[in-house]
Amino acid sequence: MYNFEFEKPSTTADAVAALADEDASALGGGQTLLPTMKQRLASPSKVVSLTGISEMQGVCMGDDGSVCIGGATTHAAVAAGASAYPALAALAGGIGDPAVRARGTVGGSLANNDPAACYPAGALGSGATIVTNAREIAADDYFQGMFTTALDEGEIITEVRFPVPEAANYQKFEQPASRFALVGVYVAKYADGVRVAVTGASEEGVHRWTAAEEALSANFSADAVPAAPGADGMIADLHGTAEYRAHLVAVLTKRAVAAAS
Ligand SMILES: Cc1cc2nc3c(=O)[nH]c(=O)nc-3n(C[C@H](O)[C@H](O)[C@H](O)COP(=O)(O)OP(=O)(O)OC[C@H]3O[C@@H](n4cnc5c(N)ncnc54)[C@H](O)[C@@H]3O)c2cc1C
Repeated sequence: MYNFEFEKPSTTADAVAALADEDASALGGGQTLLPTMKQRLASPSKVVSLTGISEMQGVCMGDDGSVCIGGATTHAAVAAGASAYPALAALAGGIGDPAVRARGTVGGSLANNDPAACYPAGALGSGATIVTNAREIAADDYFQGMFTTALDEGEIITEVRFPVPEAANYQKFEQPASRFALVGVYVAKYADGVRVAVTGASEEGVHRWTAAEEALSANFSADAVPAAPGADGMIADLHGTAEYRAHLVAVLTKRAVAAAS
């Protein structure tokens, strides 16, 4: 490791001020940022921990019935506290291992937007709102490709609001070494239609499978899930071919619908 400044503010305003410095980085649970720094893939001159900000912690119910999660809330706290949205609590409880869940945060996961991460599927599949120190961003506008989001430099996720669906389920086919999703599918049924978000599969990162959404909005049944999407643009690596991932998308969508039903 190399030298860097470290700050641990207790308010969002102080964190935003500290992050205004050039080359400053926010620190959530450090599950991604610290290994990246150790490998010299990132070298911030200042690290600003968000974990001491009480207004960014915890799970609550919003006035509109959404489940609101503070940006610095750990996966373990979501798994234990989001009982009003069981599918989301289960997603959080299935991330990594107990050590990762004890430190990793929802804000860190969504800011990182790893193409195989679970929260991006939960947020996009729920039509969540990502709240930052500066604005509110609809999930449909937030995810902009692998490791790319609508966040500006120094902008921090303070809260995420998840509308609670009538039924939902997340199915993850785990990469056994990391427990990230080789493919993951989040299905959520709302009064105005079904949303299907896919992670792990595509070179474009997390995305909605609109053909499945249309079919399932008309008939919420595993039998209504369309044939697997084409393999074009799917990730191919030593863990699985593009065709295998495309196949998994359809299989996991069926399982998610069956489980949600
Ligand atoms: C062994 C292992 C297994 C894992 N398995 C899974 C899995 O199965 N599924 C899964 O989804 N993830 C998995 N992860 C990732 C884990 O969920 C981390 O929580 C996630 O990568 C980053 O969250 P963090 O809070 O640790 O962020 P950090 O590592 O602290 O930060 C990551 C990035 O986000 C930025 N950031 C942090 N917080 C905020 C914020 N509030 N606002 C704006 N920017 C912010 C940082 O500046 C940095 O760029 C795994 C990680 C490990 C190490």
